[in-house]
Amino acid sequence: MVRNQCDIRDLSYPELTAYLDSIHEAPFHADQVFEWIYQKQVRQFDRMSNLSSGLRAQFKGHFILFEPAVLQKNVSSDGTVKVLFELQDKEKIETVMIPASQRVTLCVSTQAGCKFGCRFCASGIGGWKRNLTCAEILSQILAMNRITEARRISHIVFMGVGEPLDNYDNLIKAVRVINSPKGLNIAARRITVSTCGIIPMIKKLAEEGLQIELAVSLHGFSDESRNILMPVNKKYPIKDLIDACRQYSEATRRQITFEYILIKGVTCTEKAAEGLGRLLKGLLCKINLIPCNPVSEFDYEPPSRDQICSFRDQLQRLGVHATIRTPRGKDVSAACGQLRHTI
Ligand code: SF4
Repeated sequence: MVRNQCDIRDLSYPELTAYLDSIHEAPFHADQVFEWIYQKQVRQFDRMSNLSSGLRAQFKGHFILFEPAVLQKNVSSDGTVKVLFELQDKEKIETVMIPASQRVTLCVSTQAGCKFGCRFCASGIGGWKRNLTCAEILSQILAMNRITEARRISHIVFMGVGEPLDNYDNLIKAVRVINSPKGLNIAARRITVSTCGIIPMIKKLAEEGLQIELAVSLHGFSDESRNILMPVNKKYPIKDLIDACRQYSEATRRQITFEYILIKGVTCTEKAAEGLGRLLKGLLCKINLIPCNPVSEFDYEPPSRDQICSFRDQLQRLGVHATIRTPRGKDVSAACGQLRHTI
């Protein structure tokens, strides 16, 4: 049932077709509306010139196309653009555009706040407020296309504020529009969902028939080490998480990306590399090594460059494909939740 004045982007293609049927209009108008919204990216129903004036009036009476307000826009020296958006109910979210030579990646938020409280992340400070709607997720992409006037966004990563798999239904609805040739037409393999490790939802995602990429915040090699940074590990322990990742990889034939923070003497040790080698053995995966930030809010130190390289080399010798992440947008607080937290 369509609510009065809901955002039209909350409707999937089948839902829009059903709505048209309910008002005795032909289903092909759904193709026209999707083309106007997601390909031509217009913001007013009045500009949808191949719709009759009656149908445009009908849409205007029932739907909105909400544009989030830009509260702050920071542009990094490396070209990264971070925007703090305000939603209709004054909740704030962050979206980051990261340009590179061959791609333009957009990091999208899925919730206002977060319940999971990972120790390295500013998004959880202040707690969880609410899930974003499908329209609010999609509006970040459309708004950033306009604001940055960049080359067309080619990759989407759900790594902004919030835990994507904790807002599962709206996430999947948005992903289907992003992926659809009638929608934003971005290939599934260019869409990455990041999770702190919500095991039941990883298993559900594996059954969606979508070959999207899965990134998992690992940040430990055992329950003991992972508990330090990831409170979620107490509910979803590391071995069960890896089993779920294995299921995901087998069902989708996609490589899992693990994010792993390097803390001197804690997660960056020979014992840790050996533990990771055992844990990830035989799994189609790669691991992104992220040296911890020396000014972050927890009391750990980053390893030296030599220690980082030797950790990576040890993993490679153990058969784990490991890379060291180059930080982007450091000068504009581009890490998850930083801007939202400081304003
Ligand atoms: S890393 Fe993700 S899941 Fe963890 S607190 Fe931040 S937003 Fe939430």
